[in-house]
Amino acid sequence: MKLLIVEDEEDLAYFIQKGLHRSGYLSDLAKDGEEALYLWETGGYDCIILDLNLPKMDGLEVLKRIRKKDEFVKILILSARTKIEERVEGLDLGANDYLCKPFDFLELEARIRTLLRISYAQRSTLYRCGSLTLNLKSHEVTLQGRPMFFTRKESMILECLFLHQGQVVSQEKLIEQCWDEDTDLFSNALKFHLHSIKKKLEKEDPAHEYIKNVRGRGYMILEMPYETAL
Ligand code: CA
Repeated sequence: MKLLIVEDEEDLAYFIQKGLHRSGYLSDLAKDGEEALYLWETGGYDCIILDLNLPKMDGLEVLKRIRKKDEFVKILILSARTKIEERVEGLDLGANDYLCKPFDFLELEARIRTLLRISYAQRSTLYRCGSLTLNLKSHEVTLQGRPMFFTRKESMILECLFLHQGQVVSQEKLIEQCWDEDTDLFSNALKFHLHSIKKKLEKEDPAHEYIKNVRGRGYMILEMPYETAL
């Protein structure tokens, strides 16, 4: 789960980011409309919190441009424009929700939770690779019917690979989706976590290689038929 916070008031942006971080969400910040579009194009976000009065490009223009290309990303407008016509305009242009400033953080968080729940419900929830399963809703992973335990970072990496099952996912993409933009990521962190995931899987099931390292291109979870005889 990764969020994009588009907000030009620095203090407010950090306040939102900190609060969301405490609740377990990763997020990036964009301080104007152009940066928002740039990050959205490169980032793979599940939800965007969008201010409207922004430098360089108005929030409604940002909304329009994103919606032209992406009908799935959840967009919550968080704005000081409180008139009913302004709210209707935002929703008509494709925002999923609209919260007026000043706002209560708990309400913002509750609304984000709801949007992300809808986003999950629209996806298939159970992923399988041979005897390895991932439930995207409960984040439970099982191997040969037994629960497996992964750290939070390992789970995020696994989820990212499962969401692109059968495709090679580049290191850059994995880092983009599983770490904050600002994280000072030493280059071996991803390899370290992947190694740990592979080791845990190998310990339980040495006969199968679930995650393949495609040299120079990235990693993938294979598409394997489900083995019913567990
Ligand atoms: Ca603003």
